[in-house]
Amino acid sequence: MSIDFKKFSGIGMTSDSSREKLVSMLKSEGIKNSDVLRSMRSIPRHIFVDEAIASKAYDNTALPIGKSQTISHPLIVAKMTEIIMKYKPKRVLEIGTGSGYQASVLSLLVDKVYTIERIEYLHKKSKKIFQKIGFKNIYTKYADGNIGWTQKSPFDAIIVTAGAINIPDALMNQLSNNNGILVSPVENSGKQYLKSITKNNDHYKEEIHGIVKFVPLLSGIS
Ligand code: SAH
Repeated sequence: MSIDFKKFSGIGMTSDSSREKLVSMLKSEGIKNSDVLRSMRSIPRHIFVDEAIASKAYDNTALPIGKSQTISHPLIVAKMTEIIMKYKPKRVLEIGTGSGYQASVLSLLVDKVYTIERIEYLHKKSKKIFQKIGFKNIYTKYADGNIGWTQKSPFDAIIVTAGAINIPDALMNQLSNNNGILVSPVENSGKQYLKSITKNNDHYKEEIHGIVKFVPLLSGIS
C-alpha cells in the first residue's frame, strides 16, 4: 500500500533523503532483508513522535512518546523485524503498541498485525494514527499483553517490545507450532538480551541477538 504523506505535517522531514539516510545506516549496521529496508524507507517515523522532537525522528535513537514510554531505536525495530521475517509470518502479534511505529513497519510486510497496549492513552493515540494512515490490517487491543490474544491465536510470530523477566507462558502457548517465532528482550542479572525462540511441534530453540534496552513489560492496564 502507498502512504499519503500530505496528511501529515513536518518541516522537510517527510523528505525521502531523511529516510534514505536512515536506510543507509540500517544497511551499514548489518540489516540485509530488502523487504524490511523497503518498509522502513516507506514509514515516516516522525509522525509517531511529538512535533517538538520530530527533527530527531530519523536518528538512531529511542525517543519519548509520553507516559514515560519510548519509541524503539530504528535499528532495533529493523533487527526484530528481520529476525521474524526469516520465517515468512502471515499473522503477527505485537506486545507493546507504544507509538505504533513497529506495528506500521510490520503492516507493510505481513497479512495481519495484532497489537496490544496496556496504557490507554497510547492505545488511543496509535489507533488514531493507524486510521489516519489508512492501515486496514492492524488490529489493536487495550489490555495486558502478558495474556496475549487467545481468540486470534495461533500467531506465526510474536514480537514483545518491552523487557520481560520471563517470557509469559500464554504467549508461548499462542505461538504457532509450525515454525512459530517469538522475539523479546529478556532481562537477566540487570541486563536485557534480545532473545528469539522458535517453536516446532513443541520443540523449542533459543538464540540471543545481543544486548538491548527496552522499558519493562508490566502487568495490568493503566
Ligand atoms: N513498539 C513500540 C515501542 C514500545 S515501548 C513502538 O513501536 O513505538 C513499550 C510499550 O510496551 C509501552 O508502550 C508500554 O506501555 C507497553 N507495555 C509494557 N508492558 C505491557 C503489557 N504487559 N502489555 C501491553 N503493553 C505493554
